Amino acid sequence: MADTTKRTGYLWHTLYGWVDTGGAPVMPSSVTAGIQPISHHVAHPDTKRRMHELISASGLIDKLVQLDANKATREDVLRVHDAAHYDRIVADGALPKGGDAGDGVSPYGQGGHEIALLAAGGAIRATDGVMRGEVDNAYALLNPSGHHAERSTGRGFCIFNNAAVAAAYAAETFGLQRIAIVDWDVHHGNGAQDIFWESSSVLNISVHQNRAFPSDSGFADERGAGAGAGYTLNLPLPPGGGNALYEYAFETVVVPALEAYEPELIIVPCGYDASIMDPLARMMVRADGFRRMARLMVDAADRLSNGRIVFLQEGGYSPYYMPFCGLEVIEEISGHSAGLADAYAPLVAGMGGDELLDHERAAVDALQGHLADIKAPAAN
Ligand code: ZN
Repeated sequence: MADTTKRTGYLWHTLYGWVDTGGAPVMPSSVTAGIQPISHHVAHPDTKRRMHELISASGLIDKLVQLDANKATREDVLRVHDAAHYDRIVADGALPKGGDAGDGVSPYGQGGHEIALLAAGGAIRATDGVMRGEVDNAYALLNPSGHHAERSTGRGFCIFNNAAVAAAYAAETFGLQRIAIVDWDVHHGNGAQDIFWESSSVLNISVHQNRAFPSDSGFADERGAGAGAGYTLNLPLPPGGGNALYEYAFETVVVPALEAYEPELIIVPCGYDASIMDPLARMMVRADGFRRMARLMVDAADRLSNGRIVFLQEGGYSPYYMPFCGLEVIEEISGHSAGLADAYAPLVAGMGGDELLDHERAAVDALQGHLADIKAPAAN
């Protein structure tokens, strides 16, 4: 029997579990507004730490190639962010109580800038390992997340845009002309959209719940400008969709877009907040649905980018369910089994999402016309 396993790089850093999101629920606590403080912020780092511990305790980690993160440099960050943003984050991180990413609801504690740099550096390390052939593919379990961070500001729990930093690093270091970002976090990948809006050297695809966050971006008619016209592809999905909707969207729009673009590298900012147990969105994907999306992406990479694909952790806010979703994705991209079933399947398997509904099909089919504008830029 052919060996279907891969050398999959895996990256986690202890300090990713030390991200301090403040003692508030999501919005800052306020006596005036009646928002009570709480010990577990919705983006508390325990959720990602629990995923790492399931990967460890199940023994899956022993079948992966562990990679170590170093802090991204100022030069690394400035490929995609303004100097003023970087300098403010670093300066505020030295303050006794830290600072805020930029939107007033994304605090980080003292030294939090160093963890953000370790996350951006982890994205670079995973990408570098894949590009140099040290590993076949890679999964970096990063914290803080990055995909809402725009060129001049952080927002939505994100400080630096880890995926964009990694893409810009790969473009410069390895001379890549075509990098595809496929962001399946349930919220819009507004950060890469802002950063690569006028670029055709990055195809930026975001699959997200319509208007989940930010509520004013991520629409289908946002498609890039100038040289980048057509190279921003948003898939705003109706709330309530599950495995069937995501599989249909990936098979009929995302994969064909990749085939048209012929990327040299695929970067997947992957959140698990489209899961059926997530508090910050209203989608119904199960762990086996995320596994299917990972399979489609790895198969696309095998056909198009010499297998080069990097998964970078974004959101996911169910401390119960996210570890199982992440475990199945890493099993699928590595070809190794952790020997564990989805422990929540008995609870969630019958709730729905396995049937493609008419309005879901229509929302995806409406995007078909955008595919014709995507070409491999070098062939233009
Ligand atoms: Zn998210």
